[in-house]
Amino acid sequence: MEIKTRDDYIKSLKEQGHVVYYNGERVTDITTHPAFIPHINAAAKTYEMALMPEFEELASATSHLTGEKINRFTHIHQSIDDLIKKVQLLRAIAHETGSCFQRCVGFDALNATYMTTYDIDKKYGTNYHNRFIDYLKMIQRTNKMIVGGMTDPKGDRSKAPHEQADSDLFTRIAERRDDGIIIRGAKAHQTGGANSHEILIMPTQFMREEDRDYALCCAVPLNAPGVIQIFGRQTNDERKFGGSIDAGNAEFGLVGGETLIVFDNVFVPWERVFMAGETDFSGVLVERFATMHRQNYGGCKGGVSDVVVGACALAAEMQGTQKASHVKEKLAEMIHLTETIYAGSISCSAMGYKTPSGAYYPDPLLANCTKHNVTRHIYEIARLAHDIAGGILATMPFENDLKSPEIGKYVEKYLAGVQGVPTENRIKILRLIENMTGGTALVESMHGAGSPQTQKVMYARLGKIDMKKKMAKKLAGVQD
Ligand code: SF4
Ligand code: FE
Repeated sequence: MEIKTRDDYIKSLKEQGHVVYYNGERVTDITTHPAFIPHINAAAKTYEMALMPEFEELASATSHLTGEKINRFTHIHQSIDDLIKKVQLLRAIAHETGSCFQRCVGFDALNATYMTTYDIDKKYGTNYHNRFIDYLKMIQRTNKMIVGGMTDPKGDRSKAPHEQADSDLFTRIAERRDDGIIIRGAKAHQTGGANSHEILIMPTQFMREEDRDYALCCAVPLNAPGVIQIFGRQTNDERKFGGSIDAGNAEFGLVGGETLIVFDNVFVPWERVFMAGETDFSGVLVERFATMHRQNYGGCKGGVSDVVVGACALAAEMQGTQKASHVKEKLAEMIHLTETIYAGSISCSAMGYKTPSGAYYPDPLLANCTKHNVTRHIYEIARLAHDIAGGILATMPFENDLKSPEIGKYVEKYLAGVQGVPTENRIKILRLIENMTGGTALVESMHGAGSPQTQKVMYARLGKIDMKKKMAKKLAGVQD
């Protein structure tokens, strides 16, 4: 099946019969379940915008394999321009959704695997890259949504995968057969997992020789026997189950919708295996995937922050504070922080380069720096938003109070702001700010694409401290 439109996408999810649990119960149709609808709507934008003339150039690309027009989320970057368009696209989609639209994870997994299978084959004479190209052609033709499966549960963090009390705490090859492998384990925090079609599994970290069964890269359809998804709770998730105001962004939710994806003895044919024990490439694949996902964050979070800035400016107007100098100053600061993270994403793209596979790769040091700034600036943007919005953000009555025949009039009267602004509009904007700057949304900015410490590890490796010491010695006249 080829997925073109939003309706095609939703139909494909309805039909795929994958196993998803929500709050202890199996969900037979996620497309009609309120917990999943906002995330489906957000991901659907990646299909919808590719068909809109004004976004076509950003949201579509030409396949370097077939010459066909494809959705950019299935494309392998062929130039610096492709890297920059990716970031611009993410900012544009975030303007429409105000939340995570999830599909970048699979996009980055495709690109990282493309580059790395090429390098593994060069060293070992394996046939992973051609296999992967066949898979990629299928994905480009069908336009399926992929979840990039990197993070393993990891159990005791002080122990290597093979030292864990339970050897499935890292996803592994449990059995090698003539026709394929049996895998066991799980992937955690899988953004968009419930509404994707495939998972592209990658190793979670650098693996040593003893852990060769964990140096695994393979693709699995999410409806394969033995794949089970368990949906994660989010801040205020019960607000999805009624009304339209209290959720803040009822149509698109607040983050991507994450699942724990379990592989309970899942069979993977060799055609879908792209690394099986080449431990020396596990770290390379992790680093490439991480760099490409960190490249994104000034794009999507920049776009989300634009919406927060707009919401704060509106809240100030509705409350009569828009002329106060401290409010103007805070809005200016929020814009500065937003453009700073965006500039990071653009710069690592502009400084990108061609890898031996032909695919383009962003500058890794700058990409890590971008994501690291996001872990700080988004919190600061949220702090400023809370400051501008006021304490009412934390004490507003329910939507049902506003609509109540008995007490609605009091909510109307006492939550009113500037004359002429309907109270309901003020509440809607404040709920949007609450949704976009709280709980789960902030944690996602901290840990999505890797926690700050993972970026600092990259500074130590890529920061060229020896070269910098030499510069200092030379200027200070210090001899060795
Ligand atoms: Fe894409 Fe941003 Fe969501 Fe990651 S957090 S999947 S980059 S929208
Ligand atoms: Fe993320």
